Amino acid sequence: MEIRKVVPSGYCKGVVNAIRLAKKTREENPDEKIYVLGMLVHNSYVSKELADLGIVTLDDTYASKSDLLDQIDEGIVIFTAHGIADAIKEKALAKGFRYVDATCVDVLKTQNIIKEYLDRNYDVIYFGKKRHPEAEAVLAISDRIHLVADEEDLNDLQIANDKIFLTNQTTMSYLELSDLMKAAKAKYPKIVMEGEICNATSSRQLAVSDLEDCDLLYVVGDVKSNNTGKLVDIGRKKGIRKVFLIQSYKDISHEDLKDVNKIYVTAGTSTPPKLIDEVISYLSSQSADQLTD
Ligand code: SF4
Repeated sequence: MEIRKVVPSGYCKGVVNAIRLAKKTREENPDEKIYVLGMLVHNSYVSKELADLGIVTLDDTYASKSDLLDQIDEGIVIFTAHGIADAIKEKALAKGFRYVDATCVDVLKTQNIIKEYLDRNYDVIYFGKKRHPEAEAVLAISDRIHLVADEEDLNDLQIANDKIFLTNQTTMSYLELSDLMKAAKAKYPKIVMEGEICNATSSRQLAVSDLEDCDLLYVVGDVKSNNTGKLVDIGRKKGIRKVFLIQSYKDISHEDLKDVNKIYVTAGTSTPPKLIDEVISYLSSQSADQLTD
């Protein structure tokens, strides 16, 4: 059994920066209550690591960021790498909180492009995942932003404005974005479009697309991580025989490894390196066992 790590895979600059900011905030404020409004990055191991430092993650899929703010009365609030609406920043200040904004620069760049087109009186079609915090922060900018999660949503859209701009959440699949752009061009021939998949996401996706002779692909990451899920989609679309999303080596089953020669391991941008290394070590030990059987 041959085991290889896909390059690149794992942490991106935005995730590294968010974790660095959270730890720095704790170091500089050892006695303060510190809260993260949602998961700092979409990985439960990272949330646990922060909890060990006394940084509390306020996470409830059905609560808005505003509702989460209402759950606390004092301390420092950290906004996550996915971005935050200006109204929530204002509410935090009005409630007397200090805040630290860990929004990734690539997310900010997309938000700024959207604001420019809104200022020029465009309506914006935003290709993203429903209820994802990055999409929620963008939708809060204006009611002239229309979220579409797939071509069905695009077909249902009714926009009277003939100035339309399309862009996307930074962690979408480049294959799905390309299909959606073609469909949007067919529906709105004068549409202006700018793909905004970040480099970290696209380079990890292209590395999976380029794999050769892969019998089994493990994608290490959290089920909540959008870019992790897209790596799974791309592996399956490529026709890799077995593609599994695992959170750690503990999710590997012996059944997976039957009739497999070449295994690749990749990981979403929020997956800690330790978890990837453990998966590779575990698979290597299974391979050694096979040789001695
Ligand atoms: S996946 Fe891309 S947009 Fe998201 S934090 Fe990483 S670099 Fe930033």
